[in-house]
Amino acid sequence: MRCDTCGKRELVEIRMTVAGEELMFRRCGKCESQGWEGAGGSLTLSHVLDRARAH
Ligand SMILES: [Zn+2]
Repeated sequence: MRCDTCGKRELVEIRMTVAGEELMFRRCGKCESQGWEGAGGSLTLSHVLDRARAH
C-alpha cells in the first residue's frame, strides 16, 4: 500500500474491530496522514467514532 498523500510506502497498518466490524487503520510514517478503511471503503474518523459510540 502507498500513502495517498505523499506516495511513500511507509504505512503502518493496524487492524481492529469496532462495533463488530473489522476496520483497518493506516498511518503514514512519512507525512503522518491517517485514514480508516472498512469493508465498504474508506471511512472518516468521525464515522468510526460514531460507530464505536453507538454500541
Ligand atoms: Zn504519506
